[in-house]
Amino acid sequence: MSSTSKKCEPQGQPDSAAAGSGWLPPAVLGQARLQQQLRAWAQSGSQKVLLLTGPRGSGRKSVLTELAWRLLCQGGQAGATQTVPCGSCRACRYLKEGVHPDFRLLAPQAEEKILPVDRVRREFVNDLFLRPQLGRYKVYILEADYLSEGAQNAILKSLEEAPPYACIFLTAARPDQVLPTILSRLEVYRTAPYEDTTLYDILRLHGVETEHRQTRLAVLLAAGNPGEALRLSGCDWLDEVMDTGAWLWQQLQQPGHAALLTDGYNKVAALRDAAAGQVPERLHALLTLYTLRLQISLDDLYKQRSGPAAAAAARGQTAAVGWLRDLLPAADLPLTAIELALEALRSFNQALSSNGNFEIGCCRTLLQLQQALSVTGPGPGDSGAALAVPYR
Ligand SMILES: [Zn+2]
Repeated sequence: MSSTSKKCEPQGQPDSAAAGSGWLPPAVLGQARLQQQLRAWAQSGSQKVLLLTGPRGSGRKSVLTELAWRLLCQGGQAGATQTVPCGSCRACRYLKEGVHPDFRLLAPQAEEKILPVDRVRREFVNDLFLRPQLGRYKVYILEADYLSEGAQNAILKSLEEAPPYACIFLTAARPDQVLPTILSRLEVYRTAPYEDTTLYDILRLHGVETEHRQTRLAVLLAAGNPGEALRLSGCDWLDEVMDTGAWLWQQLQQPGHAALLTDGYNKVAALRDAAAGQVPERLHALLTLYTLRLQISLDDLYKQRSGPAAAAAARGQTAAVGWLRDLLPAADLPLTAIELALEALRSFNQALSSNGNFEIGCCRTLLQLQQALSVTGPGPGDSGAALAVPYR
């Protein structure tokens, strides 16, 4: 069996010098539209109470921390009109040292699963009505995912009666867990998925070697989420997924079932078993890799039929596409074959999440994939009518 190591930590530390002036808040890369919206909102004079949603790892806290720095900086024109915090005023120095009296980040501490209500009362509810000590604003960032219903009820009145100097920023990966009474008080914004090029920039900032093939796979699997890209780039099992994926892909294009249902099955089972009792992340990574590769084949078909301009509009060509083609080479596949293969992967994913019989599901999927991938050239009834349907 393959390595059972659970190592999966983000590599390196942010290189603050590379981020700009050496000490400023972590540069928020990407999210240009969101940042523009937030700055316009911060300058609008409306009550500064908002909720920023987006998946875990999408940089919600970084975006809001940067906005807080802009609001609290006293250099130049104080307030959110700062292009960047000045870096030399008293507020900036305090923020750098983590001792600014008018900035509070309420997040669970090491062993806490939720934010204790008494801390929420002490550091937010009771603190809110004490005027700012340094400048015009007091900024609070609260992680709403960790607020119990009781804690949410405790902050409701504060949101309703927030003093004009208060900037209250909530973050939530699961906005459906936030009470409707709270949501109705807040301006809601959302992070957008990051471009792959931005993910590479963020990884570089954290000292990750971006030329490695593991990094390419990490970026592909992260699907626009920088936190996921960082976490995955520290996973030592990515090589195993790529090696198994490339070997199996070759087998799937050969006739004969023997190797597929013995060695092939064993390798897939090993990917699943490596994370005993946990989400079979390696197996999901393999299925995602194959799905993305098949979507490239679908793009190729679309390009052949509609011209290059239409294909480019359907989906941007990235460096990852070329890399994935090299890892998993395939002849031109007919539409019916691509659809059959994608459907096989979808069904297997479904069977995995519903705890179906793994052996049966896996063997069936391998045979279906082989049936699809060992065919080349346009198939019968291959009208191409479904090509315009967007995917991913
Ligand atoms: Zn400043």
